[in-house]
Amino acid sequence: MGHTLPRSRKTWFDAIIADHVARIASGLEDVETFDSRVLAKHVIEAVKRTGISLRKTKDGLLVCPYCGRAPFTKKGYYLHLLRSHYQEMIDSVGHEIERLASASKDVEL
Ligand SMILES: [Zn+2]
Repeated sequence: MGHTLPRSRKTWFDAIIADHVARIASGLEDVETFDSRVLAKHVIEAVKRTGISLRKTKDGLLVCPYCGRAPFTKKGYYLHLLRSHYQEMIDSVGHEIERLASASKDVEL
């Protein structure tokens, strides 16, 4: 990456990314219709993939794949992800972006 965003701007993007990942993971946001005017296409794709990968259920109840805690309601899981796994979600999205970038030469970071 050729440049780094100023810290406050990066924090702002991180907050948006974490919020969407948690919403998709908990089912509060529909992954099919998720779109964002402020995030780049490859970031949106990475958010979707990360959100889906965090949507784990056991006996129909939401389970947190990061720490194994369960069961959660949709809202409870959403809050849990933001409170307990904020940085992990950001890191997961970062890894997903790297994976997408190596899969497609057209993706610019
Ligand atoms: Zn957890």
